[in-house]
Amino acid sequence: MTLYDLSRAELSELLAGEPAYRAGQLWEGLYRDHREIDELTTLPKSLRARLSGDERLSPAWSLVIESASDRGATRKWLFEAGDGSRIETVLMRYRERTTVCVSSQAGCAMGCSFCATGQLGFGRHLSCGEIVEQFIRASRWATAEGWGRIGNMVLMGMGEPLANYDNVFRALRRCNDSVGIGARSITVSTVGVVPGIAKMASEPLQVNLAVSLHAANDGLRDHLVPLNRRYPLKVLMAACEDYVEVTRRRISFAWACIGGVNDRPSDAHELAALARPLRAHVNLIPLNPTPGYQVAGSTAETVAYFRDELRDLGVNVTIRNTRGRDVDAACGQLAAGISPGGLTRGKRSSGAPREVAVRARLA
Ligand code: SAH
Ligand code: SF4
Repeated sequence: MTLYDLSRAELSELLAGEPAYRAGQLWEGLYRDHREIDELTTLPKSLRARLSGDERLSPAWSLVIESASDRGATRKWLFEAGDGSRIETVLMRYRERTTVCVSSQAGCAMGCSFCATGQLGFGRHLSCGEIVEQFIRASRWATAEGWGRIGNMVLMGMGEPLANYDNVFRALRRCNDSVGIGARSITVSTVGVVPGIAKMASEPLQVNLAVSLHAANDGLRDHLVPLNRRYPLKVLMAACEDYVEVTRRRISFAWACIGGVNDRPSDAHELAALARPLRAHVNLIPLNPTPGYQVAGSTAETVAYFRDELRDLGVNVTIRNTRGRDVDAACGQLAAGISPGGLTRGKRSSGAPREVAVRARLA
């Protein structure tokens, strides 16, 4: 349990014996000002020391490696928790916004064949606090480095957020009500956990939903996304339809373009048939290389052709340019410096990060 796991009432309990206003000061210090305990100068030194030494709280995550790519516009942090679990967080700066990509689990149980996190297997769920902490740490860094406020948060790091629904939504509510990030600036990406999509439809917090589709027929999707055997396309599309009907919000479909596998004209037709009735927005991403899936991503020309084909079929579609490939920070490449096939630490797939490799605790 970390400080970020505690509700306001639990924080007051932790501060039992202190004047009541201390809980408010601590809360604001953590969430409004993004301070660490040592920097909370509104609190007496003795209280800071008591909090730092409180055995009910787990130690802060340590930073193992910080990597930069895209001429400094992408940062990836590899963190390690006290129990040895490792996760990665990625921050991307665009001209008009800064987006943080956070992890919801260490590893992932879904086993998608092309995804480095899936190739690892499952480690554990992240707690609410561990998800919030990624946002706060990235925010601190962005402020210190002059990147400004983080405008968007995407649950597109390691793990399947809807398989860790309660912790994820507790974290999102905290980010929304105490850190001040708008619900419409948050996107939850799922590979198709149908009960989670149904739950999201009635969730008061109106975040965006992205569904990682990658195949529009069950034969291919069963192979790429094993969860499809449990929730085949018919069931998944029915859940998406209900979601759109109940929320009146648009969803998006992610499609990793895999050379000769899902980038043919017939794939475009099948995808259009699913996307059009839902008025879903399709995001195309060329497949990024991972150690356990030796198929190349589609070429830029094929992706452009596939996009045009979809457009002609009346689908709203965008090509997403991939970030952080050279430091394994791109979509599907997050493996926390762990070798595929086990949650033991091993050699990274593409060697050491190229531009920066800092070993330090995050300041
Ligand atoms: N588990 C959720 C959240 C992770 S998001 C989900 O899968 O949606 C990670 C995104 O990257 C997903 O859209 C995923 O399908 C995609 N992805 C996985 N491996 C990839 C790869 N090798 N290249 C490009 N995209 C990939
Ligand atoms: Fe898990 Fe998403 Fe990777 Fe599939 S693509 S293994 S669901 S993180």
